[in-house]
Amino acid sequence: MGLPGRVASLLFPPRCMFCRRILDEGWICPSCREGLPRCGEIRGHGEFFSRCVAPLYYTGTVRSALLGFKFRGKRGRAVGLGELMAQTVREELAGEFDTVTWVPISARRLRARGFDQSELLCRETAGRLGVTPVRALRKIRHTPANSTVRTPEGRAANVLGAYAVTDPGLVRGRRVLLIDDIRTTGATLSECARTLLMAGAAEVVCAVAAAAPSANRWKKDR
Ligand SMILES: [Zn+2]
Repeated sequence: MGLPGRVASLLFPPRCMFCRRILDEGWICPSCREGLPRCGEIRGHGEFFSRCVAPLYYTGTVRSALLGFKFRGKRGRAVGLGELMAQTVREELAGEFDTVTWVPISARRLRARGFDQSELLCRETAGRLGVTPVRALRKIRHTPANSTVRTPEGRAANVLGAYAVTDPGLVRGRRVLLIDDIRTTGATLSECARTLLMAGAAEVVCAVAAAAPSANRWKKDR
């Protein structure tokens, strides 16, 4: 590390993105690496995607870290989250996809936020997997944030028809890995998967940074 880097790390020491403890290097402390709420595969049925995996559950410090990433401009957190996602994809979905893309935000939200959080996560994750992601989807209709819609049926209706494929040639006959930040009911992922399948994708599997603990419970109860 050069002098400017050393000065910067004294003024702004790296902190664990989950508990904010100061670190010598890296982005996650040993105790968080051990103690984070680990998820894995989210079991479900009735969606248009075949499988969905997440390294983490969306709860406690994971939730705070993701809110900071998405709403308070902490874009650097994509690096650590991407590393966790790539590890989970390697363990759970190896050999099950040949194209990687993400759930895009609307142009209006992109202007307001300044970055597309799922695109950042996708680029970090795919980079570690040695794959270049493609911009296969675009959001063609601005929708209220799904977190403001209370029922699973309302969430599905909110995003129906909200996405389009940019170029069917990118997905036709391909097995697509679709990446997003957070899964709650799976409505957004399912709508994007439906859009990809309608455009000729062979199959869609999903990976998100964190899944609501209710994602597994909710499916089991139905
Ligand atoms: Zn920590």
